[in-house]
Amino acid sequence: MKINLNITNKAKWLNPKVPYVISGPCSVESEQQVLETAKQIASAKQVSVLRGGIWKPRTRPNSFEGIGEVGLPWLKAAGNIVGLPVATEVAKAEHVEACLKHDIDVLWIGARTTVNPFSVQEIADALKGVDIPVFVKNPITPDLNLWIGALERINAVGITRLGAIHRGFATHEKSVYRNTPMWELPIELKMLCPDLPIICDPSHISGNHELIAGVAQKALDLEMDGLMIESHVNPTVAKSDAEQQVSPDELSKIIEELQVRSSQSNNQDFANNLERLRSIIDEIDEDLIHKFSSRMDVVEKIGAYKKDNEVIILQLERWEYILKNRTEIGQKSGLSAGFIKKLLDLIHQESIRLQTKVMNE
Ligand code: PEP
Ligand code: MN
Repeated sequence: MKINLNITNKAKWLNPKVPYVISGPCSVESEQQVLETAKQIASAKQVSVLRGGIWKPRTRPNSFEGIGEVGLPWLKAAGNIVGLPVATEVAKAEHVEACLKHDIDVLWIGARTTVNPFSVQEIADALKGVDIPVFVKNPITPDLNLWIGALERINAVGITRLGAIHRGFATHEKSVYRNTPMWELPIELKMLCPDLPIICDPSHISGNHELIAGVAQKALDLEMDGLMIESHVNPTVAKSDAEQQVSPDELSKIIEELQVRSSQSNNQDFANNLERLRSIIDEIDEDLIHKFSSRMDVVEKIGAYKKDNEVIILQLERWEYILKNRTEIGQKSGLSAGFIKKLLDLIHQESIRLQTKVMNE
């Protein structure tokens, strides 16, 4: 099933520079800070849009909540001086109105707003009859339908220069990232809406400037259309997200070192080899599925025995043994303990589901 969005072909409005980069400070703090950042990031000619947060949705009160409307003319003037369109985040109808009044060129909806259909609808209503590009960040929770729903609401009022921003998800999983990327979600969005541009925000995924280059490279290798990277003329004194902002020099180096690989190759040897390797993968996958199926047959038999003998489904000791033993086997074969754990968790959940069914029959 594909999602029908009425959108303008991305080649017509996303700057053809590859990748399309939106950069600038997390927050506009002063006229001078945004102008100096803009001048320095524009000089390398790698950036397509200057960003700056005006209203900041902060997790805890008493943090810097943004400079407010007074910062919009500073942002716009900085963009004019360096010749870049400017973008900011809107969370309410009145933000949209203020942005339109100050000729802001591009808007985005933040992760904490996308989760709330009332807020998204309020923004959509304020955008009726307006012709401006809008990006929708993923909701902070890993819920693809909420993300799609927000895109649909904005599209329904006639915004056709529409894009999505992947900024990672807040989960309970322990991770080196501030927000786990869960790449499978933007990949699924891409499958459902193949024409929708998706850009990645490695800054909010990483939460730390050192991880940004790796996340950005991965995003390009997954065929994302661009990047939103927070940059600040002096990150150490930034009033929000200081750890994840990069200096203009760092930004330039990150972009310069990105490898832009193509999705196809004209080399016939490459095509033949890829074809051959893919057919091996096809066979292995088929084997794996048959093996999983045989394993589940045994699981069902065990379920029936447990039922006959009035024994409970979950046997913790056995599960602990499986985890330890399979991790050892996996590691000997070069598979990471994390991967084995995830795979076994999935198999175990399905086994419990099947045995519960048997028990209740
Ligand atoms: C931001 O881009 O500064 C921001 C607040 O992002 P997010 O909505 O992804 O948290
Ligand atoms: Mn930020």
